Amino acid sequence: MTRHSQPATWPWAPTNRIARRHLLTGIGAAVLALSLPGRPTRRAVAATQPAPNPNPRFAAYPFPLGVASGEPLPDGVVLWTRLAPAPLDGGGMPPEPVAVRWEVAADDGFRDVVQTGETVADPFWAHSVHVEVSGLEPGRVYWYRFAAGAEVSPTGRTKTAPATNAPLDRLRFAFASCQDYQAGYYAAHRHLAAEDLDFVLFLGDYVYEYGPQNDQATDQIVRPHPGGETQTLDEYRNRHALYKLDPDLQASHAAFPWIVTWDDHEVQDDYAGFVSAHGVPPDAFTPRRIAAYQAYYEHLPLRPSAMPVGPDLPLYRRFGFGDLAEFSVLDTRQYRSPHPCGDYAQPRCAAALDPAATMTGETQEAWLLDGLGASTARWNAIAQQVMMAQLELRPGGRDEFWGDLWDGYPVARNRILGHLQKAKIANPVVLTGDIHSTWISDLKANFANERSAVVATEFVGTSITSRFPFPAAGSLLLPENPHIRYVDGESRGYARCEITPETWRTDLRAVSDVTDPEATVSTSASFLVEDGRPGVREA
Ligand code: FE
Ligand code: CA
Repeated sequence: MTRHSQPATWPWAPTNRIARRHLLTGIGAAVLALSLPGRPTRRAVAATQPAPNPNPRFAAYPFPLGVASGEPLPDGVVLWTRLAPAPLDGGGMPPEPVAVRWEVAADDGFRDVVQTGETVADPFWAHSVHVEVSGLEPGRVYWYRFAAGAEVSPTGRTKTAPATNAPLDRLRFAFASCQDYQAGYYAAHRHLAAEDLDFVLFLGDYVYEYGPQNDQATDQIVRPHPGGETQTLDEYRNRHALYKLDPDLQASHAAFPWIVTWDDHEVQDDYAGFVSAHGVPPDAFTPRRIAAYQAYYEHLPLRPSAMPVGPDLPLYRRFGFGDLAEFSVLDTRQYRSPHPCGDYAQPRCAAALDPAATMTGETQEAWLLDGLGASTARWNAIAQQVMMAQLELRPGGRDEFWGDLWDGYPVARNRILGHLQKAKIANPVVLTGDIHSTWISDLKANFANERSAVVATEFVGTSITSRFPFPAAGSLLLPENPHIRYVDGESRGYARCEITPETWRTDLRAVSDVTDPEATVSTSASFLVEDGRPGVREA
């Protein structure tokens, strides 16, 4: 989401911002990146590594960042932690590999341990560990913990996915996004952790790069964080560590496996591929992206196959839950072409209609369409970052669209929505973050044609904390956007979903006050999609 330095009174600001010059195409940047001085590849790191220290001593408790799990498969999960006795100051570990033991149990008291192992916390990866556990039973809850030297981590709880293609009568999860630390407390995570869920889906803006001076919440900072805008690896690491120190966020990770994808603020606001939207020159932006991607990998429960190589971190992937649901998780930042018309609110320019303008890159788009076409699941979710429904921003006047959303890349959007229609994909549901407000829409095969069919439903969830600067604006835009069925710009929280063979139910969970760490939670509205009937209705 664009920040306050962009049109301050969106959606009615005149579009007088000077267009940014995009100095580099994605291909040019990729070539440049390949010629940059490299950092060690995975293999080089492994080859030069001394034996891990089996008996490390720590200046302070080494697990202050808690534990996490993710990537649920029918036979396993990924377990994560990071040794960081001085979490806000680079981690505080000596520059040596350290042995970390892990165990998985069938009970929270670890009387019935089903697997144990040892892994290495590597200084190159900030002493983070990502353990791929396999051989577990499908659809089961497990508990896990780590130990290093004489220290033991907190305990986490996780759950494997149900058996592939097996009949499944219920799946419960929550999706969330946008947790600007400065904008409020994570009461939403404390309540999320108390839900009865199979997993959590996080759709981006896990951390914000902001310094205090460029935060959306500048005039209402609830809890200031140290440091300016993150740019170096150390700064991104310290920012992730700050967020991870929050006990409510730790509780949310420790309660369920998470499936994560990112948006822009894990690197910089509104970036596209190798292009900064805020004028950082390419030779500075590429190393910054490399640093941000590395810190992201180091702090999230991603599979080691997502380990970044050069300037890339492979993140798009697919998860199945029995015969009931398949989730295609997208990355609409890493391979995105520069905003054809700019990243802010403006009339659609001719360049937006260039079919080469892409949010996903060609390879990911083909993977998405092929995977949807091959799916046999009852429900097909597309979990991604930015609003896919058309959002016309100017009541009455000439049409304006927000260039950072799918509205900025309408031909690419039509290819996906047209495929949902032509290939008769079963019950497509798009899940979205980014804009710090709730928008529930019927997605149409072609928004340019009012009589075009409804092919999917989109749930844009609100933020955990991040501020929405225009809380009352949404409802004023409904007459311009009849396919949008519900909007709420006031609430912060998360969305809880329950899928059965007959219905998809989404409950909007709103916290009472994002500035209150003790805030309560309640359901502000509920929505249903029925099997085989495109379109959403209030429950
Ligand atoms: Fe955000
Ligand atoms: Ca965003």
